[in-house]
Amino acid sequence: MKKKILTGLQPTGVITLGNYIGAIKQMVEMQEEYESYLFVADLHAITVPQDPVELKKNRRSLIALYLACGIDPKKNHIFFQSENEYHANISWLLECNTYFGELSRMTQFKDKSQKHQNFTAGLFTYPVLMAADILAYDVDYVPVGIDQKQHVELARDIAERFNKKFGTTFKIPEPLIKENATKIYDLVDPTKKMSKSEENPKGVIRLLDPLDVVRKKIMGATTDSLMSIKYDPENQPGISNLINIYSAMTNKNYSEIEDEFKDSNYGTFKKAVADSVVSTLEVIQKDYNTYLNSSELDDILDSGREFSRKIAKEKFEDMKEKMGFSRK
Ligand code: ATP
Ligand code: MG
Repeated sequence: MKKKILTGLQPTGVITLGNYIGAIKQMVEMQEEYESYLFVADLHAITVPQDPVELKKNRRSLIALYLACGIDPKKNHIFFQSENEYHANISWLLECNTYFGELSRMTQFKDKSQKHQNFTAGLFTYPVLMAADILAYDVDYVPVGIDQKQHVELARDIAERFNKKFGTTFKIPEPLIKENATKIYDLVDPTKKMSKSEENPKGVIRLLDPLDVVRKKIMGATTDSLMSIKYDPENQPGISNLINIYSAMTNKNYSEIEDEFKDSNYGTFKKAVADSVVSTLEVIQKDYNTYLNSSELDDILDSGREFSRKIAKEKFEDMKEKMGFSRK
């Protein structure tokens, strides 16, 4: 039997190069070998305020982007999280097996709650919904960036606790984080994660940015005065970030890249990085509009919804039975 992988991205805006490298690209590379689940995490998106019109647009756009990035709908179960009610149902049962103290330690909550004056209870319980997303399908691996590692670890803790208390119910999932995909940083401030919800667009590359803008952003990326193209995140965060991006785009490793640019200046290196990103985005952007307007999109979503509902329902019923919700 094939091992399973799952990941989800929030429709909180046009996805970034960080999202592509950290999550989508890995799914594309693994889709031949694994049974793959890829959803749009729209229930997660509303943990911070969303404009309904924008949310609707972003949800559909994200599906079209998945396909344009090379996600094969025949090899992935693709669906909207909100169209599968079992995610929220399972989440409640798990919430009652999760401690307040555990959730208080989550760094994403600490960061995001500081950005909103009136943050929601949903922002606090977000990681439990994420545990439900993962545990519903007994997945083996969750391809994510390092920012989500803590949440996958929490999902493991919750699963282990539930299994111990009620009998084996869940497979214990593992985060899957590639060396060059750990965390792509903002191009202007390379100490900060490149984020979809970042307001200043200068340091963030979005997959649908015009290609000349993408090129400008990379050429203008913050570097240093050491004049050496070496992977050294501590002393050369900007250059190391560009090396990671180049490595992800070309599948070359760090030493190959250092060797390739040992006699180059930063301008030459940046141009090569820009070329590699632009040629990848060119293909994605060309296919995006075709998918966005295609009726195939709804067929894909219908079959993803039906398949994922069937699996998640079984898990939900099993949990309820074990927790004492059966009539007899
Ligand atoms: P938001 O700011 O709304 O939280 P985000 O950019 O963090 O947006 P998410 O939808 O939260 O995007 O995350 C989707 C996936 O992308 C997750 O697997 C996450 O780990 C990964 N990811 C997000 N940012 C990066 C990054 N800068 N580098 C690598 N992976 C990333
Ligand atoms: Mg995020």
